[in-house]
This record gives sequence, structure tokens and C-alpha cells, in this order.
Amino acid sequence: IEIKVCLDSQIHIGSADSSFDYLSYIARSVIHGLPSSAYLIVTDRNVAKFHLTSLEAALHAVIEANARISSKVSTYIMPSGEATKTRETKAGMEDWMLVSGLTRDTVVIALGGGVVGDLVGFVAATYMRSVRLCHVPTTLLAMVDSSVGGKVAVDTPLGKNMIGAFHPAKHIFVFPHFLVTLPAREVANGMAEVIKTAAIRDSTMFRLIASSAADIWQAFKDVKDASGTCMLESRLHFLQSFIASSIAIKSDIVNADPKELNGTRNLVNFGHTIGHAIESLLLPEALHGEAIAVGMCLEARIAVTKGHLTISELRSLRDCLKAYDLPTSMLDFAKCASAPNLTVDKLLDRMAIDKKNAGIAKKVVLLSSLGSTAEKQASIVEDAHIAAVIAA
Ligand code: ADP
Ligand code: ZN
Repeated sequence: IEIKVCLDSQIHIGSADSSFDYLSYIARSVIHGLPSSAYLIVTDRNVAKFHLTSLEAALHAVIEANARISSKVSTYIMPSGEATKTRETKAGMEDWMLVSGLTRDTVVIALGGGVVGDLVGFVAATYMRSVRLCHVPTTLLAMVDSSVGGKVAVDTPLGKNMIGAFHPAKHIFVFPHFLVTLPAREVANGMAEVIKTAAIRDSTMFRLIASSAADIWQAFKDVKDASGTCMLESRLHFLQSFIASSIAIKSDIVNADPKELNGTRNLVNFGHTIGHAIESLLLPEALHGEAIAVGMCLEARIAVTKGHLTISELRSLRDCLKAYDLPTSMLDFAKCASAPNLTVDKLLDRMAIDKKNAGIAKKVVLLSSLGSTAEKQASIVEDAHIAAVIAA
């Protein structure tokens, strides 16, 4: 187990070794590390099917093994999907917690993908003026991105993550074991953030991701086709190295600008200025990683027209995304019922409420190569420039 520190969080990154009892490790770390009268596991209906009973059992086992510990463990199951990351779901959970008599010493354990992590994290940030939080991310996307960095939030109809807080988890448990049940499309969804992270910071990592795509992705799909949702352990080992590198980069960036005050934290938003706008217009048909994959291609195109990036680097970025079955142009969303919404005007409208904006000026992270950026933060880009790449 490798432990990294990011803000107030200890990130435990486990190896994909199948003989390691990761659930017991999580249970022991939570209960011995954060003594409390109550532990609340929150998950969604999907994840509950696969991973809830085993985590509950692990927590009970630790409590029962120690006569001096008499904590109670409770569980709250929410619906799944980005559409449930709302103020209403948050209020419902809070009311349930109050009725259940959960006090301020409660430790909340978010077991699930980014939706569960963001929403439950925000509940933990505000319940009785904040309670302790642990993240147990079960999607690749949540492992490499959303569970790291302390941001928690809910969506509103006008935009993603518009209402939220900074509330770093005490512990983040990153165990690739959870990924064996994750569908291929969700793995690709997380790979988009892994590719993003490499693109802004690490050329070697980018080349490795690009060159291993054929091997690992095709092999993964073959396994999946033959036996449903099951990923071979050998696949997990490859993912594990990308997970660890992504977390290391994200932690560095976050530690240098925890609350987005000096602007450098917004580097992790490469692909997200245009990507978020696409995502909000296509929700729920497109996944976050799919929308930002196209966002990355379009924003990299802006970097090309500004002379920072070469055309051949843009092509390599596209090829890499394609190799993981990710879309690279808005045309790839043609099958979506809401695709007609993707007009220049609507997209620019959505971008107008981006949290990175400085007043009316929009910002885009411009690559200078596959592994570095033109500035140490997002650059101001004129609307006309953005409109031009969208319309092209
Ligand atoms: P993300 O992490 O991509 O932001 P979600 O939290 O919405 O998004 O998770 C994506 C979907 O995958 C949800 O339907 C969720 O229930 C499901 N899911 C999460 N983790 C797993 C897992 N380990 N195995 C199977 N399905 C999972
Ligand atoms: Zn993202």
C-alpha cells in the first residue's frame, strides 16, 4: 500500500493483488483511525449489489473483534446516476440522517463513483456543520479524479457542481479490486481523465497510455464480451499504474493551490471548458469522460491555431482517445436524441457560467505539447476563437 497525502486526506493506493484483503484493510483503518459511535455507509443501488454487503461485513468484523468498541454501522442507499446529484437528494439524505439520530461524531463513508462521492461529501461538509468523511471510490473516474482534492458538490439544472464546498476526506481508499465489476464504458469514462492528466503534465505517461491501448483495451473488451462484466486481474495491474500516476499528479496540482486561489489548480480542467458545456447539453446521454474527450480535442485544436501545439500532437491525442473507445468530435454524439442542442450559441451560453471564468472572459487550458501546458494555468480565450473550433 502506498500512502499519499493531499490536503488533509490520506490516500491509500492498493495494488491489484487479488489475495490482499482490501475490505478488512479499509475497515481497520476507518475504525481504528477514526473512532466514533456511528459509521454510515452511503452508496448507490448499483454499487450496493456488488460491494455493500462485503464492506458492511468487514466493518462489523472489526467491531466484533474488539470488546471495547460498540459503534453502530448503518447504511443509506441512494439512486444511481448523475441526474440524482441534486439538492433534493442531498436534503433527503440529511433528513434521513437526522431522523436516524446520527450525531456530529458520525463518520460518513462514501462507497461509489463520483456521483456518490460528490453528493455524500457535500452532505458530510454541511451536516451539523460538518462530519468526518471517507471516500471509497469504485469507478476509475472517482479513483483518479473526483475523490482526490476535497471538492464536493451537487449539480443544478444550469450547470454541474455549481453548489458545493471544500471538504477533504480523512481517508481515500483506492483499490483497483472494485473495478472488476465496472462496465467497459465506465472504464473508458475514467480513462478520459487519466489521459487528460497525462496530457497536461507527463509526456512519458502519455506515451505509455497511448502505446498500451491496443494491448490492454482490446484484451479487456474480449474478456468482457465472453463473460459479462469481468475484468482480468492482468488488466487491473496495468490500470493500477495509471491510477497511481494520475493521483500523484492531481495531488501535486491540488496541494499547490488547494482552494483555486492562485489559478494553477484549474490546469486539471483541460478539456472541461467546452466539455462541461457539451455534457450539460447532452445529459444524461453522454458521460462526463466522453464529453471531456471531445472537449480535449476541441481545446487542443485552439492550442494548435494559437501556435502552441502541433497538428501531429493533436492527432496523437485523438488517436489515443479513440483507442479507448472515446469520442473525439461532436459528430460522434450524432446518435444522441439531444445532439441537435449542440449549437455554437447554446454551448457558449453554457460556458458563460463556468467557474473558471474571469467576469465574461472564458478560460481554456492550452497544451504546449502532450505533457505540458502553455501557461501554468488556464488561458483567456476569446469567444470567437472558441466558436470557430466548435463550428469547424
Ligand atoms: P462517475 O464515477 O463516473 O462520476 P457514477 O458515480 O455515476 O459516476 O458511477 C457510474 C455508474 O457506475 C453508476 O451507475 C454506478 O452505480 C456504477 N458503478 C460504480 N461503481 C461500480 C462498480 N465498481 N461496479 C459496477 N458498477 C459501478
Ligand atoms: Zn472531469
